[in-house]
Amino acid sequence: MNPYTIFAEIVAGRAPASKVYEDEDVVAFMDIRPMTPGHLLVIPKVAARELAELDPVVGGKLFQVGQMLAGALRDSEVQCDGVNFFLADGVMAGQEVFHVHLHVIPRTPGDGFGLRGRPTSPPRPDLDYLAASIRGALGRR
Ligand code: 5GP
Repeated sequence: MNPYTIFAEIVAGRAPASKVYEDEDVVAFMDIRPMTPGHLLVIPKVAARELAELDPVVGGKLFQVGQMLAGALRDSEVQCDGVNFFLADGVMAGQEVFHVHLHVIPRTPGDGFGLRGRPTSPPRPDLDYLAASIRGALGRR
């Protein structure tokens, strides 16, 4: 694996970042191209290209820190009436930087950010079929 990404450079202190939080496992900083003002990224210090490579304990820490930052955003001068978490795992999911990162995105009315479309529900047997397949995969882990 090639560990070089701009986020690894930020962790190493060789690239600039507007940090809001740092501990032994994670760093959080302002996204350089924010979806909304105050958009933050939380990243592990140990590089992992994708979720499959990330220590699940550190993955849990990303969420914990994201949760703390969501509270801080609401208490800060950032306009924040709600918060979305977003994580792109893989090219098809929209991942551009191959160092796992959790987006923490403050929301205000009419900000334009959001998931597109709200499909109708498939028949229950279709849901049950895929649920069984996923349970099977979990059992093989
Ligand atoms: P992805 O599409 O991989 O989920 O998101 C990558 C994010 O990283 C984007 O929102 C992009 O704006 C942000 N980003 C890319 N390069 C830099 C950088 O050098 N510094 C910071 N702070 N954010 C970056």
